This record gives sequence, structure tokens and C-alpha cells, in this order.
Amino acid sequence: MPEGERTLRVDSLWARVGNFRVPRILPEEHVIAWCGRMHRINDVRKPVYENSSYRSFLPFNLSGLDEVAILAGMDAERMLRRHTTVPFVRAVVPDSTFLDIDGRRNVGSDVTPKLAASWGALRYCAGCVARDRSKHGFAYWRRIHQLPGVFWCPWHKASLVSCTEKTTYAEEPGDHLGPVNTSSVHQRRVRS
Ligand SMILES: [Zn+2]
Repeated sequence: MPEGERTLRVDSLWARVGNFRVPRILPEEHVIAWCGRMHRINDVRKPVYENSSYRSFLPFNLSGLDEVAILAGMDAERMLRRHTTVPFVRAVVPDSTFLDIDGRRNVGSDVTPKLAASWGALRYCAGCVARDRSKHGFAYWRRIHQLPGVFWCPWHKASLVSCTEKTTYAEEPGDHLGPVNTSSVHQRRVRS
């Protein structure tokens, strides 16, 4: 895309964003979880349902994941590699996503490996929640905990807590349990 055109596109995006607060995306934070965090901190009055896409968390229109990536200060490919489960999916499924006429990856196409976010059983680690809350003042969902077959936190060697309640990325991990009680949380077994 010519530089002038890209600048116009970025300007148009930030005009749509207006005064909406866009926090920095954190290491290993799943992109949909980041959108859920924005929904929360901006008090967006818009219902979010299970299986909702990242678009449903934000009150303005986005053309695709490439625009979410611009909000995060990166390009779509970097967003996919760092903040989705796509790199893990690519390890076992061919990714033949094509680029559109502007040279952008068409992440909405049918040949793109899906983001593989598991809404049925989001998982988190009580140790990560405690660490996040002392470091950031809030906890966030990590993509690696959402991978199929991952039931233990690789950092804390603790079993993950599975949220079978009607919990979505619009909530902070651990909030549906009330105050985090690490000993009881660790005893909860993961259900996939
Ligand atoms: Zn952990």
C-alpha cells in the first residue's frame, strides 16, 4: 500500500477510536482477551456473547485484524505470531492465506487457520493471576493457557483453572471466583 494511503487509513482508524482508551497489549496476551480488557476498562455498554469475535468488544468498526494490529502498534503478521494461537496451528495445518491487492493478509479468508480461541473452557493460572495483580494491578488471559491439551502453567508448574461458568474474555481471569484463594484454586481440576 502506498505510504500516503496507509497514513490516511491509520488516521481514519484513530478518528474512529476517538477518546477510547487503548492500553498496551501485554506479552502472551491473547488478542481477543486484549479486546475484552478494552471493553472492561472503557465500560463499553455492549453485550458480549460466547463465540463473539474481537469486533464485538469494541464500540467502533474495524475492517479486520490488521486494524486491531495497528491499535497494538504492529502489523497483522506480528499480531498473529505473538498474540494468537495461529503459530501453534501452523505447526500442524498448512496456512495458505493470501494477500489482498493492498498487500495485506486477508485474515478473514476461509484458508486462514482459525484463531482457535476456546470459549467453552477458558483457562488461567492462579500463580499468573497473583503475579499480574501485584505487577499490573489486574490479571490477563494468556494464549498459551488456551491451547488444546495444555492443562498446566509452564511458568508456575501449576494446574490451570478451567472456567466452565459463563465466563468470557470480557471478565478478568479469576473474577468469577471472587477473591483469589490460591490454595483452593490449585485444587480445582481442569476440565477440557
Ligand atoms: Zn502461571
